[in-house]
Amino acid sequence: MNWIRDIVTGLIEFYETNNVLDLCDCLGISIIKSELKNKGSLFCRNQLGDEFIFIDSSVNEIDRRTMIAHELGHAILHPDINIAFYDNSLVTRCKWERQANIFAAELLMFDVNELDYIHEGQTLSALAESLEVSESVIEYKHKCRFL
Ligand SMILES: [Zn+2]
Repeated sequence: MNWIRDIVTGLIEFYETNNVLDLCDCLGISIIKSELKNKGSLFCRNQLGDEFIFIDSSVNEIDRRTMIAHELGHAILHPDINIAFYDNSLVTRCKWERQANIFAAELLMFDVNELDYIHEGQTLSALAESLEVSESVIEYKHKCRFL
């Protein structure tokens, strides 16, 4: 999925950040905390082209960053969709969801080579904690190497 990495690289170079909140701000995407089903998140684009990411207010900071990065992936990669839900049980079933997960992994771990840490013998959970990303992000980043 080099094309997704290329898009992420271009985005980070243009805006000089991989901070998901700063990127949403630069792109005019509003983030709204709300009570959502399944403690998930939701991307939506209205008829005027305004874009919103709704995120459950009870999720922790690390999961929030992951979900926002995922929804940002929909905003950038999928200009033709108007609504997308984040649901952990569904995220691997659909091409768009996989692409959004890859986008999130490439964005959140842009400068990180997880193989360096794996070779040092770090566990997945220890690595996730030190990098402040969810374990699923590291797993996706690792899978991306072999796509
Ligand atoms: Zn999604």
